[in-house]
Amino acid sequence: MKLAIIGSGYVGLTTGTCFAEVGHEVICVDNDAKKVESLRAGKIPIYEPGLEDLIKKNVANGRLRFTSSIKEGVDNALVVFIAVPTPPQPDGSVDLSFVERVAREIAGVMTGYRVVVDKSTVPVKTGEKVRQTISRYHAGGVEFDVVSNPEFLREGSAVADLMKPDRVVVGTESDRASEIMRELYAPFGAPILVTDLNSAELIKHAANSFLALKISYINALSQICEVSGANVEMVAQGMGADHRIGRAFLNAGIGYGGSCFPKDLSAFIRISEDLGYDFALLKEVSRINRQQRDRFVRQIRDALWVFREKRVGLLGLAFKGNTDDVRNSVAMEIAEIFLNEGAHVRAYDPQGAEKAKAIEPRLEIVGSAEEVADKADVIVVATEWTEFRDLDWAAMRKQALSPLVFDGRNLLDPEKIRALGFHYHSIGRS
Ligand code: NAD
Repeated sequence: MKLAIIGSGYVGLTTGTCFAEVGHEVICVDNDAKKVESLRAGKIPIYEPGLEDLIKKNVANGRLRFTSSIKEGVDNALVVFIAVPTPPQPDGSVDLSFVERVAREIAGVMTGYRVVVDKSTVPVKTGEKVRQTISRYHAGGVEFDVVSNPEFLREGSAVADLMKPDRVVVGTESDRASEIMRELYAPFGAPILVTDLNSAELIKHAANSFLALKISYINALSQICEVSGANVEMVAQGMGADHRIGRAFLNAGIGYGGSCFPKDLSAFIRISEDLGYDFALLKEVSRINRQQRDRFVRQIRDALWVFREKRVGLLGLAFKGNTDDVRNSVAMEIAEIFLNEGAHVRAYDPQGAEKAKAIEPRLEIVGSAEEVADKADVIVVATEWTEFRDLDWAAMRKQALSPLVFDGRNLLDPEKIRALGFHYHSIGRS
């Protein structure tokens, strides 16, 4: 089947590549001409395990190509995906101007029946607006359907998630579009849930908010564990073994960040408000998340007494492991707090350093994890890169000025790290 994906970022590029991998013919469109140029030159603008090889393979076999022309994409596709940003506005609501613009642009170039699929995360009822916009701006008479097909991939394992999704949600009232979507997704062998348009849009916000809720729940528990002398990991294990609860997303830490959870949660709170419901539960989830980060920083500040003139060795800048994405990363937020209070931050991240430096030039970026320990007053683990577990912590102990380690991701083994002489603090493992 012939597809166009408008927006070639984390979602558009990985989705387009995986569709090509299962045999579809895909054109990825982006209005960032530089990005298109570098993709054509074989340079991949994001780090996602396995993605580069798949892109190269499918470009070589002719099933994947890149353009900055939306006309070229829409002309050569039966299904047109919208995968552009839906960033938050200051009041928490979603900026839908990217989606609206693409809808107008599709309307302007559409010459025959198309299925227009919204993959961006959008508020309920956006599909209706997309439909109205295309109808209004289209010169005449061509049929089209609008489908909501929310994306559930996780950065860091996007390729695996896309190739083997738990489920595919297709929201549409059209049998014709629903058949096309079933055919499109058939090669993935995943269960396909067909719903109405509004339900599909709601599923995405409901799912992300629920995952954020699980994280805040275990983080709230971590505070109780700390004061009661319990171990949050054992509590999570005991809870998670119950299949009604599940172990995933019950890892205590310094909270969720990234380009999705914080924005999707604020959006859902705002959407609910607009619909007349005060989603106080989600407001609390968000409050606990901020509190968890602030509490961690306070504990480090207490240990150091003052941040001014201190050297913080920071392990991790990406919002989670296996990605280079530093957007709304908690690691970046705490780095900024340290810097604003006069500390020097020497940081290492296996993939996210370049993007982090572009956002926060005050960071000193080093080329290896061990180097952050050099004359450090404290070493802080802020991102769960598993490789941080296997560092030469004995050598790092010798290099560090003071023996403090604050592990915001419960990545290290407390016994092993303490045996090396470190004063080790983690989350909820008193
Ligand atoms: P991104 O910023 O990485 O990529 C968006 C791309 O769209 C950029 O390359 C940008 O240049 C391009 N673009 C913007 N306007 C355009 C236009 N008019 N025409 C063509 N291209 C245009 O964003 P992302 O992380 O891929 O997210 C896209 C959407 O998917 C958002 O709604 C997001 O909430 C949702 N989502 C993201 C994830 C994730 O993990 N990143 C997961 C699920 C859903």
